[in-house]
Parts: sequence; C-alpha cells; structure tokens
Amino acid sequence: MRWRIGFINRLATILFRVKEYERKIAKERIERLFQLAVRMSKEDLKLADRYVQLARRISLKHRVRFTKEQKLLFCKGCGGLLLPGRTARIRIRPRREPHVVITCLKCGYIRRIPIKRREKRQVST
Ligand SMILES: [Zn+2]
Repeated sequence: MRWRIGFINRLATILFRVKEYERKIAKERIERLFQLAVRMSKEDLKLADRYVQLARRISLKHRVRFTKEQKLLFCKGCGGLLLPGRTARIRIRPRREPHVVITCLKCGYIRRIPIKRREKRQVST
C-alpha cells in the first residue's frame, strides 16, 4: 500500500505542476492579448475588443485573474476594451466619497472606483 500512496502523491504533484504551468502560460497569453488589443485599437477597435474577449475567456478557463491594469482596460458590460478618450470617459468626482467614474462609450456601463485617502497605495508587481 505504501508505494501506492507514494505514487498518488507524486501524480498529484505532477498534476499540480502542470496546472501551475498552464496558468503561467495563460497569464502570459492574457498579458500579450491586452498589449495587442491596445496596439490594435488605433486601427481596428472591433479586433481589439475580440482580443480582450479572448483574454477574458482564457482567464475564466484557467482561473487566472486580471491584474489591476487589465481590469481597468476591461468593460464588464460589453466585454470590450476600455480606452480613456476613445471608448471610455473618465471623470473624477471629488465630493463626499471621492471616486473615479469610468463610463464605457460603447455600452454605457458605469464603473465607480473609490479613491481612498491617507492610504498608501499597494504596488503590484
Ligand atoms: Zn462596455
């Protein structure tokens, strides 16, 4: 019995490593798709949207989360690319709870991001 447990353990470790490797690849693909989307947006917005949608699909499949930067570029409403000045409008509302309002010009989806004062911003690596 002993060897079997050892075998299962080893198999589990290998499977885990494969999964980790797949996620790493998925992360890199998402990164590249966002870069492509931003670059393509100057010429073809629809293609740029498709890149972002593809990135979203990869993220869901491999359970890889978008980074903060990627989340800002992604519209939850239409799944397209959010580009300030092009497909998105950004306004800062300083009253009461200061927040940033990002409006998708394609589908009208509104996103509010609170700005917290006195708090050091965490630097994501
Ligand atoms: Zn949208």
